[in-house]
This record gives sequence, C-alpha cells and structure tokens, in this order.
Amino acid sequence: MGVEFRGMGLGANSGGSGSGGSRWRLRELANQEHFDWQIARRVLKAFVPYWPMAILVTLVIFLTAVGTVAPAWLTQKIIDDGILKGRVSVLTWLTLALIAAAIATGLLGVLQNWLSNLIAQNVMADYRLALFRKLQEQTVNFFASNQSGDLVSRVMNDVTAIQNVISTTLVGFMSNLLMIAVTLTLMFKMDLRMAVLAMVVVPAFVIPTQRVGRVRQKLQAEIQEWLSAMTVQLSETLGVSGALLIRMFNREQAEEKKFASANVKLRDLQVRQGLIGRWLFMWLGMFSSIGPALLWGYGGWLVIHHEMELGVIVAFTTLLAKLYGPLSQLAQVHVNVLSSIALFRRIYSVMDLETEVKSGSVTLADREVLGRIELRGVSYSYPDYDGRDERRPALREVTLTLEPGQKVALVGPSGAGKTTLLNLIPRFADPTGGCVLLDGIDSKTLSLRSLRAQMGLVPQDPFFFHDTVCNNLRVAREDATLAEMEQACRTAQIHDMIADLPDGYQTMVGERGYRLSGGERQRLAIARVLLQGPRIVLLDEATSALDTVVERKIQDALTVLLAGRTALVIAHRLSTVLAADKIVVLNEGGMVAYGKHEELLQTCPLYRELYEVQFGVRDDSRPEPETEKGGR
Ligand code: ADP
Repeated sequence: MGVEFRGMGLGANSGGSGSGGSRWRLRELANQEHFDWQIARRVLKAFVPYWPMAILVTLVIFLTAVGTVAPAWLTQKIIDDGILKGRVSVLTWLTLALIAAAIATGLLGVLQNWLSNLIAQNVMADYRLALFRKLQEQTVNFFASNQSGDLVSRVMNDVTAIQNVISTTLVGFMSNLLMIAVTLTLMFKMDLRMAVLAMVVVPAFVIPTQRVGRVRQKLQAEIQEWLSAMTVQLSETLGVSGALLIRMFNREQAEEKKFASANVKLRDLQVRQGLIGRWLFMWLGMFSSIGPALLWGYGGWLVIHHEMELGVIVAFTTLLAKLYGPLSQLAQVHVNVLSSIALFRRIYSVMDLETEVKSGSVTLADREVLGRIELRGVSYSYPDYDGRDERRPALREVTLTLEPGQKVALVGPSGAGKTTLLNLIPRFADPTGGCVLLDGIDSKTLSLRSLRAQMGLVPQDPFFFHDTVCNNLRVAREDATLAEMEQACRTAQIHDMIADLPDGYQTMVGERGYRLSGGERQRLAIARVLLQGPRIVLLDEATSALDTVVERKIQDALTVLLAGRTALVIAHRLSTVLAADKIVVLNEGGMVAYGKHEELLQTCPLYRELYEVQFGVRDDSRPEPETEKGGR
C-alpha cells in the first residue's frame, strides 16, 4: 500500500495529475481567418467609456488630413496665381500659409498621438484589471490545469499588443481613410483627367502590400506563441521548486537547449518580420516615381496645349504621395484587423471563463457562527481529461458531521480523497453530488467571503509571499498590530526565531518562504491562522518527519490552535490521531470507517494497517527525522 503523501492545490504543490480537465483548459476558437462581428462589437464596446476622447481624436485626424493636403493646393496657387502672374503679395501670403499649415499639422500630429496613446493605455489598463479579476475568481483546480506562465503572458504580452491595434488599426484606418478622401476630393476638383491617371498605378501599390500584410500577420501570430512559450519556461525554471528540480536531475543543459531553440526561433521569426518589407519597399519606391513620371508626361502635354496650368502638375505630384501611402496602408488594414481579432480572441477566452465556484448571497455575522460542519452524501469527480469519461469519482457519498469544537482526523492511503474532501469545505471546489453545510446552511448559499472568514487553513507546504514576515502575517488580518502578531507567534512557538532574524518581523521571507525551514514555515502558517482566529481549522499535516524538538513545538502550537475550534485534520502523526475526537478512514473516495482509535483498531483492518505502517508503530523503515534546517 502506498504511504506516500502528496500536497495538492492548497500549498506550493499544484497537485493534479498533469495536464488539465477540458472544462478548465483555456481553448482558442480555431478559425482565425474570418472576421468576427461579435468580437469586433465587443472591442468597440471597450472604447465606449472613452468616447469623448475618441470623437476628439477623429476631429484631430480630419484636421491633420486637411493640413497635410493643403500645401499641394497652396503650391498650385503659388505657381499659377503668384509666380506666373508676377503677384508678390499673393506669393507672400501663400508662403506664410504654407508655413502655418506645416506648423499646425505638426502640432495636430502631437495631439493625435497623445490622445490615441491615452485611449490605448486606458483600454489596456481596463483589460489587465478585468483579466486579473477573472483569474482571481478561478478555482484552485483551474491553476492546476493551466500553466501560470501562459496566463501571465495573456495578461501582459497580449494586452500590450492592444496598443498596436489601436495605433495601426483603428487610428490608422481612420486617418488613412480621411486622408484619401480629402486628397481625392482635391484631385478631382483640380483636374478630372489627371485624377484618373493618378489612379492608374494604384493596384501596383495595393496588391503587393496586401500579400506582405498577410505573411506579416502569420509571423506575428507565431512570434506571440513563441513569446508565450518562453514566458512559461522562464516562470517554471526561475521559481525555487523548478530550480531545485532542474539541479537535482542535472537538467540545466536540457533546459538551456530548450530555451536556446525557442530563442533562435524567435530571433529568426523577428529577422524575417524585419526583412519582409524589403522587396515591397523597393517595389513601392519604384512606382512612387513612375506615378509622377506619368503625370509630368501627360500633364506637360496638356500645359503645352494650354489645356491646364503648370501649377496643377506640381500639386498633383505632391498629392500622389498623400494618396499612395495611405492607400497601401489601408490595403493592410483588413490583415491588421484579422490579427487583432485573433489577439482579442485570446484575451476574451480568459474573460469568458466560467467561474466554477460562485459566491452565494447569505452573509454570516461572526458571533453567530458555531462551527458545525455537515457533509451530506458528498461526491466529487474531477472533470474529465480531454473528454474521456472513465474516471472514478475522487469522493463517493461521504456523510459526516463535525460538531462545534470537535476534532476529526482524516486518514487513508495516498489518493484516498482526503485533500479533495478538505478542499470542499472552504469551497475551493463544489461537490458534484450532495452538499456541505455550515451551521445547517448549505455552503453554496453563503457568500465566499463570509464562509472563508470562518476557516483557517494550514496546508502541508504553506505559501508565503516574497515579502516581510510582518506582511505575510497580515495576510490573515490586515489591521493586526505588532503586539498581536507577536502574541500569535509566541503561541505558535516561532516568535524567538523571528526575533533572532536580522530584521526581526521586517525580514523578507524569500520567494515562497524558502528562506525558512519546513518546520518554521509550518509554525508561521499556524501563527497566521491564530491571528485570523477562525471558528474552523483545516489542517493538512506535514508528512516530513521532524526532529523531536521541532515536532514538540509544532504539536504545542497545534494544541493551542485547535483548542475550542472545529477542526478537520489530514493526519500523518500518531499523536494527532490519538488526540482526535473521531477518526474518519477514507479509501478510494469512500468512507470505510468512523470512530475512535481503539474501536477502529479492532474493527477496521485498513486502519490497523495504516496505523502500523504509516504511523511507524510496527515499521522498520521509518524515515530518519529531519533537523530543523532541512525541513523540505
Ligand atoms: P489524498 O489527499 O487522499 O492523497 P486526493 O484527494 O489528493 O487524495 O486525490 C484523490 C483522487 O483524485 C486521486 O485519485 C487523484 O489522482 C485525483 N486527483 C487529485 N487532484 C486532482 C486534479 N486536480 N485533477 C484530477 N484528479 C485529481
């Protein structure tokens, strides 16, 4: 029988058996090639709060377009009405107007940049917050099934890419469209024949640009994927657990190889992305000279035959650049739109996650809570892996009552469902059958805040933020005073150790608390729960054997912690089992026995076996006790 124990979900170990159940996995909607109105509408909705700015930016874009095209018209007037007719005053005024137009367009450009950046940053901030909130609502199981690096990448990398969407797609679309409209209006007003001729080379700009845009979009999607893969690897290898694993199994070179190959892929993709426009630029450069050549040829012929004035040719050649540039950019807009849609799809797949554990509306006043817990026919099945429905339930119809103040020990072989059962009480997941009641109220109807406020959890491998001891304790109660924290730590037998640290309660505990030993982390976690002062304590006892001094300290701390509180303990120590009011024996998800130690020894063979092997009563292979500094 396996007597190996595994922390799950609650502590540092993410638990779960590998990849995730399909219900939790983030999935991309496959087809990225077609335009999706629903997503487009949703994207536009995100801009609604900033509509005054959006209107202003449109106005500015329009004025910029007029300001950019105006010099062409002014040039024509300078040549035809000023220079050729010898009018100095007209020449002077129009020259001043040219200068004014240049200054105004420059200033408007700055304003447009500022406004569109402001809108983009606001929308990005909104998305980041919405994603963070959504992810916070997810269950512990969700995080066991999704890579944290991928989630980080969605919240940071994908959202950052929105800026591009706004500047190239939305603002770019509007400004190009307005520019083309203003330019064409002026062209057709000046001379119909010349305008038609100017349009002849347009396809030479539009078609290749479209092609290149499509390739560029594919590259961008690939780049985004590799970036995400690298973020995942970084976040896994740069944590203490990952770093330990890599060193233990001499995986340094393998990890480096993996990173290096992703790195090379990313480099090559980015080099390709940088080079992709080379031929296009050559082509565009060629045609932007051919266009004016045609205009000079035909326009010159018209001028010679007195059918047109010279200034018109000059104006047209200036206008050409204002037409071809925006046109080729507009040709890429639909490609940009499609890649933006793909980006938003990734973001929305997180935003649309269902919240599996929904908060109820009933709130509890602290004084009224007795701490009676009842499990009525509780079953739980983890969601299927990739649609296969062969999994046996992790819990089967467990019925159990913990009276206020009662201490119940959960025992059973590894995989029996102990952690799963413990997780159902604070609603880290909801039972798939039956219900859990707190003081006779179905816990599903309670608000999560008020339910969890009644419960303190000491996981097997407690987690700490990379922060000071003090701030890690305040996680339990924000307004705790130093005196209260010290009191809790004294009770948890950890005060002396903290006081000896270089900065006392202001010492940083290190990433996940790894600067503390296993025994110290457990006692700090106990102090944290003492500070919280809940009615109910959930405890997943550490499996690692500790030396007797440390063990004694933890035992003493636990005795105080559990006194007067309802407690459900996944027990790994004989002393805990003996101290419990009742013992529940779980096996393969079912409750096989319930009673006191002596009774169970007589009546339950499984319990007897566990007692002998696990609690080391008749065991030759009991692990060597760990010393305080080697607790993990
Ligand atoms: P125990 O705490 O008694 O060792 P658990 O409650 O962790 O047992 O696990 C009970 C069963 O549920 C095991 O068969 C285990 O493989 C399965 N299980 C645990 N966590 C997950 C998960 N996140 N996804 C799917 N199955 C899981």
